[in-house]
Amino acid sequence: MEVLPPDLHVHTEWSWDAPIGDMERSCERALEISLPAIAFTEHADWALVHQGQHPVDIAGYLDAVDRCRARFPNLRILTGVELGEPHLYPKETAEILAAGPLDRVLGSIHSIRLDGDLLDASQFRDREGLDFPGAVREYFRETLAMVDSGQPFETLAHLDYPKRYWIAGAAPYREKDYEEEIRAILVACARTGRVLEVNTTRGNILCPDITVVRWWREVGGQAVQYGSDAHQPDKVGEGFAIATQMVESAGFKPARDPMDLWHR
Ligand SMILES: [Zn+2]
Ligand SMILES: [Zn+2]
Repeated sequence: MEVLPPDLHVHTEWSWDAPIGDMERSCERALEISLPAIAFTEHADWALVHQGQHPVDIAGYLDAVDRCRARFPNLRILTGVELGEPHLYPKETAEILAAGPLDRVLGSIHSIRLDGDLLDASQFRDREGLDFPGAVREYFRETLAMVDSGQPFETLAHLDYPKRYWIAGAAPYREKDYEEEIRAILVACARTGRVLEVNTTRGNILCPDITVVRWWREVGGQAVQYGSDAHQPDKVGEGFAIATQMVESAGFKPARDPMDLWHR
């Protein structure tokens, strides 16, 4: 069996939206499927605090990672965080990052600004009369603003996240329809030395898929990493077999050291 790459995007009970997350069980699962490493990237979100989000208790989280490292010496366990809209919350972001050295820092857009409010892409379909393609364009505009903001994250997570919540019955999502917006994001990421994540949350819906990973290579993108975005232990590493095949056919090579990212 081929060696799977590290899973560098996993949530546990320390994330506000992962009530059945479990750091210890996720470590066991990673060992079961022979992952070389796992990164716990808990949500640091501020956009929807009024809807029950709360930023991560970073000190408690780091203690939990220490306990897992002692308990699972054969697994490489990385610390991390998934910053939500960090360019809109620079002070809060700096506080989280000051709490301790974190191995993997992801930058994510989940919400767009709409009518003075923030709307998560998972809620697009519930908003009556929403111009869906327009909202997706706005999502990409916000992503570009985040990448250009200079916020210190090294990896762009789930570049086309609204795709996960596409409206049934609408014309299917096509990268080509948003090529200009997506390429601008990729160019900005390449210029700032960032890594592109291939997110496998939906199993066979890769986020982004081959068209975008090819563009990433074309614009000079150097590296790709993988993230299951698991919110429960049995999802760790899910979809990695299909994702690695896709990335390889887009022109990136498996790392010689399995702990490493994949490069062009
Ligand atoms: Zn996310
Ligand atoms: Zn996530």
